[in-house]
Amino acid sequence: MISSIMPTYAPSELTFTSGQGAYLYDNNGKSYIDFSSGIAVTSLGHSHPVLTKALKNAIDKVWHLSNLYTIEGQRQLADKIVNNSFAETVFFTNSGAESIECLIKVVRKYFNHINKPEKYRIITFEGAFHGRTLAALSAGNQKKHLDGFGPHLDGFDQVSFFDISELKNSISDNTAAILLEPIQGEGGIRVFPDEFIYQVKDLTDKNEILLCFDEVQTGIGRTGNLFAHQRWDFTPDLVASAKGLGGGFPVGACLSTAKVAAGMLPGTHGSTFGGNPLAMAAGNAVIDTVLGDNFLTQVTNLGAKLKIQLNKIQIKHKAKLAEIRGTGLMLGLKFNCSTEGLVDLFRKNGLLTVPAGDNVIRLLPPLVVNEIDIDKACNIIDESIENWTK
Ligand SMILES: *Cc1c(COP(=O)(O)O)cnc(C)c1O
Repeated sequence: MISSIMPTYAPSELTFTSGQGAYLYDNNGKSYIDFSSGIAVTSLGHSHPVLTKALKNAIDKVWHLSNLYTIEGQRQLADKIVNNSFAETVFFTNSGAESIECLIKVVRKYFNHINKPEKYRIITFEGAFHGRTLAALSAGNQKKHLDGFGPHLDGFDQVSFFDISELKNSISDNTAAILLEPIQGEGGIRVFPDEFIYQVKDLTDKNEILLCFDEVQTGIGRTGNLFAHQRWDFTPDLVASAKGLGGGFPVGACLSTAKVAAGMLPGTHGSTFGGNPLAMAAGNAVIDTVLGDNFLTQVTNLGAKLKIQLNKIQIKHKAKLAEIRGTGLMLGLKFNCSTEGLVDLFRKNGLLTVPAGDNVIRLLPPLVVNEIDIDKACNIIDESIENWTK
């Protein structure tokens, strides 16, 4: 008999009843170090006082208005994003896939607006993940996600992960944009090398096509910058954000330059819930904290510390563990073989992690993790890999 919950997930039996900082507690009182953060969402950890207070205050005011009216928190959050990134204008959504959906629409609208409607195709990379709507699935082009959901949306071309000549050859008169995750999350913490990215940037300039980043997972401080692309000295045309932006409340955003968003006039796009007052209270509290004194420097330092320890563990277990990938607090353990059973073993030993493609286990601690918790987590990782037999 089918479960009352549509069985698209196969969740563990674990039930968590409370959380504090980098810890979650289950219904038997057992504690877990949470290096999953609800898949890079609870950026400020659990029960962060600033976030809790902001939402409690917002709940006592007005919950929902609709974008028919001015929502004060939207202007505040949009201004903060604009003042701290390439963006000149922002559309608020409720999820990553919705931010990508908006991004795709802005790309298409831009070329329509400048009378080049033949330019509508978007190039993405093998291993990409952009979300689960039909457009986002077609962009990601993962067989396991697309199977059974045809016909797929036209307008996407996919190239190999790291092949600049294939990318060059795939650009046609119909190409509108290149879309990529600065670090592929679901794909297995696969980092685009700087050199490759500069070549991509060059190609977009030469061919007058848009450069778009999916920063749904890499953004909002995760890699030590507000957005991961800020480590490069150029700016994109569009960015999709979500996950960490609400710290656990559903908030997403599509960031654009003014030029590219010129066609997005009243009536061209919309959302009933996007940018609602509760979501904006969460988003403002997260961004104020992440942009606060030393916060991002601390993420960089903690990420470096974690990576040094993981590199030692990798050397110790090099028969099993091939490589440590990623930057900041978005790191991956890349194994020589299938990681089957290892996420469960970590969990049994009190550490929550997230599986990813390419035989990788993701470590996505809350950005407020401390050095003691990093040490504890590394001990669990070390001992678990030691005892792991398949
Ligand atoms: C999670 C994720 C998405 C989809 O976000 P949802 O909120 O699940 O729709 C899109 N892109 C990337 C890079 C992601 O990590």
